[in-house]
Amino acid sequence: MLKAYKYCLLPTVEQKEQLAQMFGSCRFVYNLGLQTKLTAYKQYGVTLNCFDLTNQIVDLKKEATWLADCPAQALQMSLRNLDNAYTAFFRGAGFPKFKSKRGRQSFQLPQGVKADLEARKVFLPKLKWVECAFSRTFTGAIKTVTVSRNPSGKHFVSFLVETGEDKPVKKPINRDTAVGVDFGVKTFAVLSDGRNGVPQVFENHKFLRRSLKRLRVEQRTMARRFKKGAAEQSKNWHKQRVIVAKLHETITNQRRDFLHKTSTQIINEYDTICLETLNTSGMMKNQKLACAIGEMGWTDFNAMLDYKADWYGKNILRIGQFEPSFRICNVCGWHNKDLKLSDRVWTCANGHTVERDANAALNILDFGMRLHPLSAKTER
Ligand SMILES: [Zn+2]
Repeated sequence: MLKAYKYCLLPTVEQKEQLAQMFGSCRFVYNLGLQTKLTAYKQYGVTLNCFDLTNQIVDLKKEATWLADCPAQALQMSLRNLDNAYTAFFRGAGFPKFKSKRGRQSFQLPQGVKADLEARKVFLPKLKWVECAFSRTFTGAIKTVTVSRNPSGKHFVSFLVETGEDKPVKKPINRDTAVGVDFGVKTFAVLSDGRNGVPQVFENHKFLRRSLKRLRVEQRTMARRFKKGAAEQSKNWHKQRVIVAKLHETITNQRRDFLHKTSTQIINEYDTICLETLNTSGMMKNQKLACAIGEMGWTDFNAMLDYKADWYGKNILRIGQFEPSFRICNVCGWHNKDLKLSDRVWTCANGHTVERDANAALNILDFGMRLHPLSAKTER
């Protein structure tokens, strides 16, 4: 089983400079690769692949001699990542973007990295031993290593490790141990499994909203200090840029924390989790919802549920987007054609009063169970 472990990297001043150069070289090769691909396609109708571009690196090194200070594998990995970005694009993701020197910086290494957990050090090609804050241990063969620096200047190293363990056998799918999850707009998620008749609700984290408010204030200050057309921005602008970057980090951490806790809790408590297939790009078109959804990170949450289900042998069942889960009365199946987003509680034609999200969660559970006829709903 593949698992990722991420730690804080603590390079010396000299190593920081070397790292900055490596980030720069990989970014340069990535951007040049993208530019070359675009030109080749536009002017000659030729599609260059990763190998064509990799062959050009040899020639490129004769001119851009500084590239030799960066491990060749890291440069090749940049081009492979560019290829992956193209593949993702053909599968519906956005078009590959040029990398900016302002954003998060990273490079990857497929080999040549050693981790000494006891000495708290990592061996990276060209850099030699770099101090690393190993907060937890791991065992297994290192597959890929990603070194990154976030906009506020912190360095990280992430190991993708083959642990050698087999994935646990999946638990049987059974309605008694299954749950339906509805992602709400007002609340983060509602579970079909009511505790004492009250649906289990995961509220949106309010602290996030507070942090976002502060972010807006700090960003405004940063914008005020920005001098248009100036070759170099002021010291005060750079100071403010770090403040904004740090705040972004806090928000990301708070959000990730919440998503981890919630997904772990759901995975621990149930053997089968029924969900709706998410269509966030469709939902993002609805401006009012866009902010709320982006903030809550449903995509990340779904990814967490997926890999945690693999770790613990749990099942994830996704129902189609076209099942009108929130429009159907779960008691009698009556279809409410006129239901509006603002209707929190509604009454069906047969007099059943249902709460929107809890009702949707129950329907999602039913639809999920229907995907598995053996475990289908019995008499109620
Ligand atoms: Zn009804």
